[in-house]
Amino acid sequence: MDNCLFCKIIAGEIPCHKIYEDDEVLAFLDITNDPEGHTLVIPKKHSVNLMDTDSDTFAYTCEIAQEIAQHYVNIGYADGINIYINSGVDAGQEVMHLHIHILPRKQGDGINFARTEKQSDKTLAEVAETLKLN
Ligand code: AMP
Repeated sequence: MDNCLFCKIIAGEIPCHKIYEDDEVLAFLDITNDPEGHTLVIPKKHSVNLMDTDSDTFAYTCEIAQEIAQHYVNIGYADGINIYINSGVDAGQEVMHLHIHILPRKQGDGINFARTEKQSDKTLAEVAETLKLN
């Protein structure tokens, strides 16, 4: 897609530090190197984010992300892994091409990833009532 940064990386028009590539997926290091080894896994077929990605493409991209995460642990590079997707501007998405972040974590690295420290005034039952899908 024109004017998509990650499509340009896929096309080789912008360089990247490649970790893995096949016909459908590319994985490369995040430019921030924060934390070290921060990796992005992207489908070659353009989609914006979680909402418009077809399920087969999403499943395969996740499968490769899992393989890369296992590889980082297997080679002793990471003691643990965080995986996340920012989907939508209000969720912090900056590049509008679906990408899975892989953060290699090391014992005692002190990164506070999971907690937002924003407590809700609603009960879990109220939240579940609002969110339930079936
Ligand atoms: P997000 O905020 O989820 O959209 O994440 C976009 C990510 O792309 C950020 O972590 C950026 O550091 C990363 N990024 C932006 N430009 C490049 C680039 N040219 N090469 C590698 N990573 C990039």
